[in-house]
Amino acid sequence: MTMQAPDISRAKSAELFEKAKQYFPGGVNSPVRAFKSVFGTPLFIERGDKAHLWDADGNEFIDFCCSWGPLILGHNNDQVREAVAAQLSKGLSFGAPTALENQLAELIIEKNKYIEKIRFVSSGTEAVMSAIRLARGYTKRDKIIKFDGCYHGHSDSLLVKAGSGLVTFGETSSAGVPKAFADETIVIELNDKDALKAAFTEFKDQIAAVIIEGIPANNGLLMQSKEYMHFLRDITKENGSMLIMDEVITGFRIGFEGASAYYEIQPDIITYGKIIGGGMPVGAYGASKELMACISPDGAVYQAGTLSGNPVAMAAGIAALTILAQDDFYTNLNAKTAAFVQDMRDYIAEKGYRVQLFHVASIFWFAFTEQEDIKKASEIDPASMESYKIMHRELLNRGVYFGPSGYEVGFVSAAHTDADLATAKKHIFDALDIVF
Ligand code: PLP
Repeated sequence: MTMQAPDISRAKSAELFEKAKQYFPGGVNSPVRAFKSVFGTPLFIERGDKAHLWDADGNEFIDFCCSWGPLILGHNNDQVREAVAAQLSKGLSFGAPTALENQLAELIIEKNKYIEKIRFVSSGTEAVMSAIRLARGYTKRDKIIKFDGCYHGHSDSLLVKAGSGLVTFGETSSAGVPKAFADETIVIELNDKDALKAAFTEFKDQIAAVIIEGIPANNGLLMQSKEYMHFLRDITKENGSMLIMDEVITGFRIGFEGASAYYEIQPDIITYGKIIGGGMPVGAYGASKELMACISPDGAVYQAGTLSGNPVAMAAGIAALTILAQDDFYTNLNAKTAAFVQDMRDYIAEKGYRVQLFHVASIFWFAFTEQEDIKKASEIDPASMESYKIMHRELLNRGVYFGPSGYEVGFVSAAHTDADLATAKKHIFDALDIVF
């Protein structure tokens, strides 16, 4: 019989958290880090190397959060670290163009047929906010359609029914968003063609854009069918609206050309973040030359940034994407993840546990349910999060780090070795034994 693992010491983390609470709301600089929906004090992390993390109490973990997605190469990757170190002695920021921006743009655009021009910003939130402005500026319309459960950063018009960070705290939308802004955001359920058709009928010629995550991964992993995604593409085109594919998670994760290639869809605007900065703060949005000509200083849609295209971040992104552009990078990573997931599914099936493992490329999500197909946020039972809580505690106590919310997905990196995955699997099996 599997025994519950003894609790690891969190004494130092607890001490740091008490101090942090004096300075930051909830003791954190991003809400989900506060461990509100799992057991215990948040872990304060001291360092990471390859697939491993160490916290302030010296506990070691195999990391499947990977900084929420950016670290597809794991922690402390040699090439990324050396590229950053080389840039440090040349300067941190100039507020002027550098050759590094050209290099990262070239890497992204040359091997990616879905965008022709790009603009770098400093976060995914900024990228999406700017993409929406571009869509509104180009179409001269105000309304946008987003999907329940999709998260697109924390700008006003997008914090409506916006996924894990909010739903974890029992809310779906943020306070402080002016009603007039929220009124311009139409929220519908994923995978519901009729709702989309109805919205286009009701708000004819008013919809600037439909925005969707490449593959919705912020409220569980809600795989959409290729057919539905093509329906989205067609209906937006027919109505003169932009299709914005938010690839902040899926860009360079699903493959070098992201979810756009996965679904074989040409969106009008694509947003990136996370992976393109190699672990540094970067976001970007890209589109055709024609659309990007609307952006200032060429066009009338204004968008700027003191640290946009920051040279240290560009250097990290260039080093990371150079590795990702190598033949077989994604084939290997995705095959490794598929085998890991299959072994876990086999164990779950053998034991008859009531849990599903959803998976695409190097992303996975545990859903404590019998439903084999979940395509909408509303199909997730909030009560199932109690099981995740137990699994999360067991995993931490056994040295495996998952995101502190059952709505969050896990990521496998190229740095996860076969030995890491074998060890993690063993602990995950034990944790599942405890849950059930
Ligand atoms: N879009 C998606 C799909 C995301 O997952 C996120 C963040 O998780 C964002 C946008 C916002 O990015 P950032 O946190 O860098 O502002």
